[in-house]
Order: sequence, then structure tokens, then C-alpha cells
Amino acid sequence: MNLTSPKTVKELLEKYSLKPQKGFGQNFLINPEIPYRIAMSSAFDNDGVGVLEIGPGVGAMTRELSALFEKVLAVEIDRGLIPLLSETLADCDNVTVINEDFLKLSLPELLREHFGERPVRICANLPYYITTPIIMSVLEAYRPSEKPQVQSVTVLVQSEVADRLCAEAGSDEYGAVTAAVNLSGRAVKLFTVSAGNFYPAPKVTSAVVRIELYENGIRGAFPGLPEDDRELDSFIEKVKKVISAAFLQRRKTLTNALSSLYPKEKTAAALEKMGRRADVRGEKLSAADYIELTGLLQNNEN
Ligand code: SAM
Repeated sequence: MNLTSPKTVKELLEKYSLKPQKGFGQNFLINPEIPYRIAMSSAFDNDGVGVLEIGPGVGAMTRELSALFEKVLAVEIDRGLIPLLSETLADCDNVTVINEDFLKLSLPELLREHFGERPVRICANLPYYITTPIIMSVLEAYRPSEKPQVQSVTVLVQSEVADRLCAEAGSDEYGAVTAAVNLSGRAVKLFTVSAGNFYPAPKVTSAVVRIELYENGIRGAFPGLPEDDRELDSFIEKVKKVISAAFLQRRKTLTNALSSLYPKEKTAAALEKMGRRADVRGEKLSAADYIELTGLLQNNEN
């Protein structure tokens, strides 16, 4: 059965009395090359690694993942697709499908239950309406002091979202999400996918992004962080608050944007210590800068 043939997808959906559901962001891939390339992008160098797919749809990418990984867990919200997936994945012994809303699951518990101690990659053609919540829920599922079981997150998203995730500090695309993602890892844009590769076709162009989580956690990526775990976790919470406030009103200077958290003079003095102008805007600072700034703002002698 060719799961990327539009005719087959339509017939399968009809057989199970289904239609593509806008509410679940269902746009199925109909070019066999794309699920193959996404699965390959997730699977590079994958000895002993499992994979979690969010939203298998009719199972086209799930089959590619099944051929590349030892074990596949697929989480699908649409109850109607479960019997269809039993048919399309019948010969894939290493695949387990569960009918759940990914956003309501505890990721650490789910991964322990299905993969034990094994490292896991996440791979998905994400529904556009909840792309960012899904990515952030993965990155926030573990405390900064914990080593996440997830190694990387390879996702097909709207092209603008991809640009935002991968943006450099100071660019127009850079935002709070970029800085927040960079606290956990680095995002790389791999390739774009035009609307004609989906059924039904979305109105936007898409792109594949791989977020590689820092191999040695946040301490390995940013030197000088607290050694005590609880101290580290509460410090990173503060960094996140500073980032959210900094981007809440993008056009404000950082000193003004952070005034609800810290006195303006304190922020100005911290920025001066960092060699920054007091009127710098939040979009100019990288994740490393936000860590340094928060450290200085916490320091009473500052
Ligand atoms: N993987 C398939 C493909 O590439 O053709 C389908 C991708 S489609 C864009 C998104 C899929 O995610 C759909 O199957 C949809 O039902 C599922 N989905 C949407 N929200 C979800 C959620 N919160 N948890 C799990 N699956 C979800």
C-alpha cells in the first residue's frame, strides 16, 4: 500500500469514514521522499535509540521510522485513525500506537514506560496550530539540572516558525522562543517543503528543523552556572522570566521592558558591565547574554 499516494490516503480515510480534520491540523504528506528525508534526518547515527512520533496520521512517516529505529512509539490524538493505523502498520512489529493528546501526557513518564533508559529522538510533522506549544512542552518537560532522555527533536513546521527557531540574536526573526529554545539546544533548518506535498495542501510553505539538545545539558553549554541542582533550576526559571519580559514589548528598551522585575538603574548597570548600551533592545541578546544578564541582576553588589 502506497501511503503517500493521494488516492490511497483518500480511499483509506473513506474506508474508516474519516475526513482530514482541520481541528487536528491534519495535512498528510503525499510525496514519499519527504517522510523518508525527515525520518533520515532524525535517525542519523542512531545506535540503540528509540523514536517518538507525534501525530502519525495514516502512518507514512511511521513506516519510515520503523525501518530506521529499533522501537517506535506513535501518539495520535484522533481516535478515528487508530483502527486505520492498525491496518497500515500491521507488519511493523516495532511500532506501538497510543491514542492520546500529546500535550496532556507527562513526557518523562511516557518515555520511561516505553523506552526504559534508552535515549529517544522525537520526530513529527506537526499540526500547525500547536507547533510552538508542542516544542516548548518537550523542552520544558525536564528540569535544567536533569539530563533529558530526548536527544533531538526533528519537526516539519511552518517555514516562518522554522526561521524563528533558528534565528541569530539581532535578526528580525529572533524572538523569545528562539532564546528559550537556545537554553536547551540549537535548532538547524534542514530543508523546505512546499504546500503541494500535502493533502490537503496548507496555505503556507513548511520546513524541517532539527533541534539538537545540548549533549551535556545546560551546564555543558554555558559555563559558570550554579553547581547545586536546585540553585540551577531556580536560576534558569529567572532567566526565562527575564526573556519573557524582554520580548513582551519588543519595541521597548531592555531597561524599560524589565522594569517590572528589576529597577531600571540596576538593569542599566548590568548591561554596562556586559559592555552593552543601556538602550539596547531584548532582540539583540543571545541566550548566553540572558544568562549573564540575569546573573548580574541577581548579584546584590551590582
Ligand atoms: N504524520 C502524518 C504525515 O506526515 O502525513 C500526519 C501529520 S498531520 C500534519 C498532524 C497529525 O498530528 C495528525 O495525524 C493529527 O491528528 C495529529 N495531532 C494533532 N494534534 C495532536 C496532539 N495534540 N497529540 C497527538 N497528535 C496530534
